[in-house]
Amino acid sequence: MKVLIVDDSAAMVALLASRLEELGYAVVVAANGQAGADLFATCRPDLVLMDLEMPVLNGYGATRLIRAIEARQRWAWTPVLFLTAASSEDSLVTAIEAGADDFIAKSASEEILRAKMQAMARIAALRNDLRAAHEQLEGIANRDGLTGIANRRALDQWSDEAWARAVEAASSFSLLMVDLDNFKRFNDAYGHLAGDDCLRAIAEAIAETAKQACDRGVCDMAISARYGGEEFALLLSGGEADGYRDTADHLVRRIRQCAIAHDHNPPWGIVTASVGGCRFERAQGHIKAIFRAADACLYRAKAEGRNRVVHHTSPGE
Ligand code: GH3
Ligand code: MG
Ligand code: MG
Ligand code: MG
Repeated sequence: MKVLIVDDSAAMVALLASRLEELGYAVVVAANGQAGADLFATCRPDLVLMDLEMPVLNGYGATRLIRAIEARQRWAWTPVLFLTAASSEDSLVTAIEAGADDFIAKSASEEILRAKMQAMARIAALRNDLRAAHEQLEGIANRDGLTGIANRRALDQWSDEAWARAVEAASSFSLLMVDLDNFKRFNDAYGHLAGDDCLRAIAEAIAETAKQACDRGVCDMAISARYGGEEFALLLSGGEADGYRDTADHLVRRIRQCAIAHDHNPPWGIVTASVGGCRFERAQGHIKAIFRAADACLYRAKAEGRNRVVHHTSPGE
């Protein structure tokens, strides 16, 4: 555990540092509040011991800077303990208001120092547990239970964010809506468990296609998700029109290459998908427009015989 001591008194620093090192802590030192905040940003200690009165910037100002640095990062929190002489109650209140967690008298014994450090470490550990649990739940909330790829909830959130960035940058944005062909008959013929296995395999193929599109530089970012039932979405942010069209063709081919037998999907006899695609050269307006256009193209792909891609074309194109 690394402790940052911010204090302008060399004697105080020497005393604290030797005690902390004896207790097994690594120690870094800054001689004023500004230097302390700067050092905090680069070395990210596990705990800060902060003097109150210092040249350049006092302990309140330094603590506010530290909290501002942490605010840029989700979940960041480092205990800050003020080092107090015989301070007034007012200065302690101000310290807590500035973002300090507790205080300790400069004259405190080694036992008190150790106990206070222990209490802070305990809170930090609890917070880390909470963070881990939160991240785990967030993962569950964003993933489709059956296929393990992103679910509709995550797609809605991520696509809105990606769309907003694309509108801001006036960059391109493409969407492929994928729907398995005659999938009800697949379930009827082979059972729902086989249907689930099929959905898992198709989801993997779509996720792989998204990853490849990114790796090959076809787009800046790709998101694949289960839109619902036997429908999936693949979203490409940035990139050229050729790459988008290649990706759409690749996707339909890749699904065929899974070669999952489906006797009731004539004339192919394997699982196939229809895809509706839409690409905006420059993202603008509401994201709903691209979903609506891709959906209309998907409908056409079905009507025109399935196992194919239909792209949206603007009037005059
Ligand atoms: P089309 O080619 O026109 O898309 O026909 P379709 O049969 O695929 O379309 P329809 O919408 O009639 O049927 C979709 C089927 O997808 C119905 C449902 O049983 C199946 N399905 C949806 N979600 C799941 C799932 O989680 N597991 C399984 N096994 N089947 C699912
Ligand atoms: Mg001082
Ligand atoms: Mg469907
Ligand atoms: Mg279908």
